[in-house]
Amino acid sequence: MIPTKYIFVTGGVTSSLGKGIISASLAKLLQARGYSVTIQKLDPYINIDPGTLNPYEHGECFVTDDGAETDLDLGHYERFLNIPTSQANNITTGRIYQAVIDKERKGVFLGKTVQVIPHITDEIKERIRLLGREANYEFVITEIGGTVGDIESLPYIEAVRQMKWELGNQCLVLHLTLVPYLAAAGELKTKPTQHSVKMMLEHGVQPDILVCRTDRELPKDLRRKVALFCNVSPNAVIESRDAETIYDVPLMMQNEELDKIVLSKLGLPDIKDVDLKEWSTFIEKLKNPKTSVNIGLIGKYIELKDSYKSIAESFIHAGVANDTKVNVHWIHSEEINDENVKEKLKKLKGILVAPGFGDRGIEGKIRAIKYARENNIPFLGICLGMQCAVIEFARNVLNYTEAHSSEMNPETPHPVIDILQSQKKITHKGGTMRLGSYPCSIVENTLVSTIYSESKINERHRHRYEFNNEYLEEFEANGMIASGINPEGGLVEIIEIKKHPWFVGVQFHPEYKSTVVNPHSLFVSFVKAAINQSSAVKQKAQK
Ligand code: GLN
Repeated sequence: MIPTKYIFVTGGVTSSLGKGIISASLAKLLQARGYSVTIQKLDPYINIDPGTLNPYEHGECFVTDDGAETDLDLGHYERFLNIPTSQANNITTGRIYQAVIDKERKGVFLGKTVQVIPHITDEIKERIRLLGREANYEFVITEIGGTVGDIESLPYIEAVRQMKWELGNQCLVLHLTLVPYLAAAGELKTKPTQHSVKMMLEHGVQPDILVCRTDRELPKDLRRKVALFCNVSPNAVIESRDAETIYDVPLMMQNEELDKIVLSKLGLPDIKDVDLKEWSTFIEKLKNPKTSVNIGLIGKYIELKDSYKSIAESFIHAGVANDTKVNVHWIHSEEINDENVKEKLKKLKGILVAPGFGDRGIEGKIRAIKYARENNIPFLGICLGMQCAVIEFARNVLNYTEAHSSEMNPETPHPVIDILQSQKKITHKGGTMRLGSYPCSIVENTLVSTIYSESKINERHRHRYEFNNEYLEEFEANGMIASGINPEGGLVEIIEIKKHPWFVGVQFHPEYKSTVVNPHSLFVSFVKAAINQSSAVKQKAQK
């Protein structure tokens, strides 16, 4: 075990350059050398966490085992490293200020003026060091959200400056910038990179490594030019070309020897082998699928695909596990109605109804589920998607035509989905849902008992409403059964329809736990069922 090294990843020129993927890729390369690595994201906004943000603002809210509502980059970290993250891996400015203000009220700083420097920066540094000190990681990679020059990132950059000064060569800064190609000039331009490094220097931070996003090759002379203007060694100017898939990036960074440069800058020997066999096999299969299958993702935030990031990635993992390419058809639930449902869904061999909150688009989701149920199309409902499947069954099989969730209609005579007992008195919105990992017992002789290898599983949750157990007997008598139950409170966590080839609704979020080396078995089985459905249709057509 080596003493913890701290790597900071900052961004310049523009947002969306892929700091999260670069951080995860570097972490993967270090992990593949046998080091223990974790990645942390510092977000400069004032919300305590992204749990209260509309997905249109910030994409999906990723949930950790310990129930933290976090930035979607943590999903990438888990998918790349295959190790769980926790609350400590995502800190926002809101959380930092809240902690400092709480301390002030407790009298921790009694007599002192509480200021951005040192109090806010101390709190930031403490949250970074915590992962090295208490969690004992050999590498802590800290991604600073936003772009250098943003007013709100300043305290973070200042904390980086202080840590660099305090820790010397135990610490390094990787700055991600853009080298755009100007068509009119026919040239790649380095000026934006020079300016963003200047901006870092104004704040007292000299980047050690520059990773340059570009759409074409970064020639040697250009690398030398960037190195000269930005005070970095030429071999520390790394090209990061637009990739076909994010999963290519670790291998691209290995080609560019990013890991070797990091080790040499931190004074570590380059002796360990890099074991990326499993990763390379995954890429090989990803790029050479034997078949393809059309699966619909029905949700209400589909204009922003980041809203369903983990689901989309889970389909990639499950596709590879089945040697197939999953063509995800993004379908807006608000656009589905009785008249067009067949037309819109007829090409699909599997239908997934997404999680969500509130009334908008709910009837379209229910309509799509009716279609999947009646036409034997494999169906996976996640959280709200599962709740919609319960409502659909109540309305169309049990004939409770006004059945609903009390979230959408508090006056419904048949609240087949109702507020969790534990949620009834809660009025505050942030971090108060049923969040994080809970156990679930799998019922024998069910579809899910053949999918999960264990009879007791743990999955992550994020909801306030649940299946209303008063109706359970009636549902089961009519063919929709509870196949997963929370052993402590008896909550229904999984439903399925016995007579249907593959119809599963889960109150939890399997998508948060699917990784490259561990594709989630529910997704793998769902995709397999969709492929089988495809071949069944083909066989029928041939007869
Ligand atoms: N809105 C539903 C609830 O709170 C479902 C939540 C979700 O899909 N994550 O129970």
